[in-house]
Amino acid sequence: MKAIVYSEHGGPEVLKYTDAPEPEIDASEVLVRVRACALNHLDLFLRNGIPGIKIPLPHIPGSDIAGEVAKVGAKVRNVKVGERVMLQPGISCGQCEQCLAGDDNKCRHYTLFGQMVDGGCAEFVKAPAVNVVPIPEKMSFEEAAAFPLVSITAWHMVVTRAQLKPAETVLVLAAGSGVGSAAIQIAKVAGARVIGTAGTKEKVLKGKELGADSMILHSENSISEEVKKMTNRRGVDVVVEHVGQATWDESIRSLAFGGRLVTCGATTGYDAKIDLRYLFTRQFSLLGSFMGSKADLFSALELYRRGLLNPVIDTVLPLEKCAEAHQRLEHREQFGKIVLRVA
Ligand code: ZN
Repeated sequence: MKAIVYSEHGGPEVLKYTDAPEPEIDASEVLVRVRACALNHLDLFLRNGIPGIKIPLPHIPGSDIAGEVAKVGAKVRNVKVGERVMLQPGISCGQCEQCLAGDDNKCRHYTLFGQMVDGGCAEFVKAPAVNVVPIPEKMSFEEAAAFPLVSITAWHMVVTRAQLKPAETVLVLAAGSGVGSAAIQIAKVAGARVIGTAGTKEKVLKGKELGADSMILHSENSISEEVKKMTNRRGVDVVVEHVGQATWDESIRSLAFGGRLVTCGATTGYDAKIDLRYLFTRQFSLLGSFMGSKADLFSALELYRRGLLNPVIDTVLPLEKCAEAHQRLEHREQFGKIVLRVA
């Protein structure tokens, strides 16, 4: 089969469009003919190499996958050959205390497609049957690939961890990112007032189209000063963080007394500081969030069916242009997801 493969860590140039062996499935697995695979920042981190995480090389990247079922193992009952499906990005053991409690993203053996196992930048990928989910009728393969990872991540942050309430105000950083665009929509469904941020005037307009009540152009204004103007100097109840070092101080300064900051990433760096006097006197809560449970994808899909949560697609490129797609994401030029189409 054709696939994007890298044999060493480095820049986008290590991504090679080449031949790779077609995966073989066991009785509890499904072989999926990939039609679309969306990019995430995780792809860039893994390609560059993360200290302390040794992934198997050569490696096929890609965590967000949609396609058609090509083969099913003898014990598979939940999908049939030919069915249009998306894959739950997270793979867990399915047998431990956390998995059985429905907290599979806390499983000690948790990994993702494109991390410890081969991903979807290929004509075929194999998946445990439990990861295979039918696509709603109206959803295209490109939308289905753009949907899972950021939808479950945003759901877990906004609903499960921060428990955002209708009368609250939330600050969502980077409206143009995959997580930001999903978090804005989910926060609106929760009934909250949503303030978004973006780095260009064009992205500010797009953020409003997505449902943000107000947008802050962070390249020209201080986020916390704008938040104070917009909230009568009170601050916001919840900050949805995933940018990290570059925005951390502004995020903390934007919080109201008793505010919660929920973070799922550190794309600009992880070396953030907090003044402990602020933390205790203002009674902040700092909440870590990573991916979401398998059940969270079903909740997000229900919002899609109701027309309340839509994947935001920036660009669709052919699989061969994977390196170009990585560059676009690296330069943060996109609004929404970059998707690779597999012919
Ligand atoms: Zn487990």
